[in-house]
Amino acid sequence: MRKALILCMLIASTAVFVTCRPAEVYEGSSIVENKQQVQDDVKEEETKETETKEVETKEIETKEVFAQSFAYYPIDEKIESRIMGVSWKQGSPVALKDLRYVNVFYWGFDEQPHIGELIVNKAVAKDIVEIFEELYEAKFPIAKISLIDEYNAEDSKSMEDNNTSAFCYREVDGKPGQLSKHSYGVAIDINPIQNPYVYKDKVSPSEGKSYLDRSEMSKGMIVKDDLCYKAFTSRGWTWGGDWKYEKDYQHFQKQLK
Ligand SMILES: [Zn+2]
Repeated sequence: MRKALILCMLIASTAVFVTCRPAEVYEGSSIVENKQQVQDDVKEEETKETETKEVETKEIETKEVFAQSFAYYPIDEKIESRIMGVSWKQGSPVALKDLRYVNVFYWGFDEQPHIGELIVNKAVAKDIVEIFEELYEAKFPIAKISLIDEYNAEDSKSMEDNNTSAFCYREVDGKPGQLSKHSYGVAIDINPIQNPYVYKDKVSPSEGKSYLDRSEMSKGMIVKDDLCYKAFTSRGWTWGGDWKYEKDYQHFQKQLK
């Protein structure tokens, strides 16, 4: 169903291109000699053929994109070079071979499909793919999904940009020496602005202050028992919004056995 939807969107946009183009080509050419008309007809036929091929090629490319999405892979050299010394450093509690690079589709705040990338522990990679498939099917809006390395592995910058991310070797904010669950690749933060971290009068990111009233639903907000909450908790993850003394509404984590 999902695949069909995306294909339709891509084909529809190409179809618009196909129908519009001849109109532009022949605009204002109503008086033509027969010979010219025949030549034009042949030309049009050829153009249509090329454009049909373009549509078919586009369809194949789209299928390939799908084959590569909602999937996870070992960290290859290309990904390693992006994260080495950034989100992954010497001393990291999880080896590179135990991490997975994940591709997902997500439904953006702009109500369009996008491709996101995440890095997680291999033990939760399947969960993450399944969860994001569910979120996508339900069109749960997500602002952005990029590796935290795009923000030089600075959590505050990623949060301020409303970025959804998972693995990052780092300490818990404000608790030196205590490694965050993100360091193991078993935690994920979703839409940080609509789902801020709250402890006493501290709100992270600060733009999250507009979303402290959890009864007033906004795009991308996570609340108890909603579909995002259930997608995670039904697979054994816990939610930071359920914590007693502090609330981390963006955060889900899984305890490894
Ligand atoms: Zn988190």
